[in-house]
Amino acid sequence: MVMTDDIFCQKVTKESTKEDKPMDKYFCNPCGYTYDPEKGDPEHGIAPGTAFEDIPDDWCCPICGVSKDMFMKAGTN
Ligand SMILES: [Zn+2]
Repeated sequence: MVMTDDIFCQKVTKESTKEDKPMDKYFCNPCGYTYDPEKGDPEHGIAPGTAFEDIPDDWCCPICGVSKDMFMKAGTN
């Protein structure tokens, strides 16, 4: 009945997972508008802190109106 080793293993592996991964900015390819996940797009129903991946597919660029798939991931620095 010695089953404690498994529990110790799980605790060790959990420490190596990073939880606060920075969210990526995306920019609109046609017009250059940048979506900042920290700011969101409150005027169009996107709350601050929303990752680009979590924006509904019917969201469009607030500047030029293209759909999400015209956006490119921006460099993080
Ligand atoms: Zn645009």
